[in-house]
Amino acid sequence: MIRIVTARAALLVGQAAFWLPSGRRCQSLGEPAVDFDGHSPGFVRGVARGANGLATAVYAASEGLSVLVLDSRAFGGQAGASARIENYLGFPTGISGMALMGRAHSQAQKFGATVAIPDEVVTLESAPDLYHGRFLLLLRGEERASARSVVMASGARYRRPAIDNLAAFEGASVHYWASPLERNLCDGQEVALVGGGNSAGQAVVYLAGKVTKLWLIVRGSGLEATMSRYLVERIAALTNVELVIDSEVVLLEGQDGVLEAARWRHRRSGEETRRNIRHLFLFIGAEPNTSWLSHCDVVLDEKGFVRTGTELGINRPALATSRSGVFAVGDVRAGSVKRVAAAVGEGAQVVAAIHAYLAAPDDQPVP
Ligand SMILES: Cc1cc2nc3c(=O)[nH]c(=O)nc-3n(C[C@H](O)[C@H](O)[C@H](O)COP(=O)(O)OP(=O)(O)OC[C@H]3O[C@@H](n4cnc5c(N)ncnc54)[C@H](O)[C@@H]3O)c2cc1C
Repeated sequence: MIRIVTARAALLVGQAAFWLPSGRRCQSLGEPAVDFDGHSPGFVRGVARGANGLATAVYAASEGLSVLVLDSRAFGGQAGASARIENYLGFPTGISGMALMGRAHSQAQKFGATVAIPDEVVTLESAPDLYHGRFLLLLRGEERASARSVVMASGARYRRPAIDNLAAFEGASVHYWASPLERNLCDGQEVALVGGGNSAGQAVVYLAGKVTKLWLIVRGSGLEATMSRYLVERIAALTNVELVIDSEVVLLEGQDGVLEAARWRHRRSGEETRRNIRHLFLFIGAEPNTSWLSHCDVVLDEKGFVRTGTELGINRPALATSRSGVFAVGDVRAGSVKRVAAAVGEGAQVVAAIHAYLAAPDDQPVP
């Protein structure tokens, strides 16, 4: 049986209510499971124990908002899976993703945020007539949570090719982006990059200035169908870039996460090539975790990422989605840069937007 519990909560100031079956256990990582069927404060956050969810929780809770963080899986999101984050401000020697997220989790709890896992959000509804304009999140298992505002931080998943031992090299030698850090890591080395889209092309041009040799590996028969012409032409002019068509990376070799060689196979002939590759770049796309938003009237872009701010209209507040009171931050947001620091920054920024919304919920322009 589901019962209604009213709690002093909400993603920020204000009241919210939780609909939780009696005896439901909400587990807070690092602590024993606790019963959470009483009058506990909370804010409803659609998805979130990634960098972004925890950042929002820290900033929102430290500014007096009641916060409930819901996550379907575990601690830390993608950042938690990173063996070593080298480019996060304040950690010049790097820090493991799990250590960084562990600290964020403790900090969120210190400020009073409530964290619930595993709690998968199945859909977002609004029930303005019944619940005075609050948002209602349906959780797997027929539970409900509501609040006056919702922040979506459900992140994204990078597409990963089917290479058996790929995970062993992620973090140190396998990269899903090419920032100045990765570019410097590759200085004077031979690398491979998989992908035929524009983001792959831009990364090739960017990395080519540093590396001795770059193998650009694509499954198709060329770049023309998937990459802008100017990039195809620029790549053709780079003498240290070699295009490998109709091929897939099939095996990585190395020790302790340090890549020493890669093998790729021609898809028709089956012929294999082995090269002494030190870094592998994968640019085969990212998929947003937005299937739970498919019937929520939240506008997504053509790839399924959540549109926010001026993408929706000239007067739309930053990080606001097409539904007033619902915000999106981090990798799930269309146009996000997909870095830990960016996710954390947006988590801080959205708190001001929520305050503004709660102060004048009816003044928010809706396209
Ligand atoms: C292997 C790896 C290494 C990386 N290394 C770096 C690095 O060195 N430097 C850097 O800047 N960036 C790095 N990144 C990128 C960085 O981790 C991400 O940009 C950042 O973590 C995004 O945070 P987020 O909170 O937006 O999303 P995520 O980290 O994806 O978190 C989203 C969370 O939402 C939860 N969720 C999804 N759907 C639901 C639902 N329906 N209900 C409830 N919960 C849900 C997920 O379980 C997840 O925990 C790395 C990424 C990977 C994969």
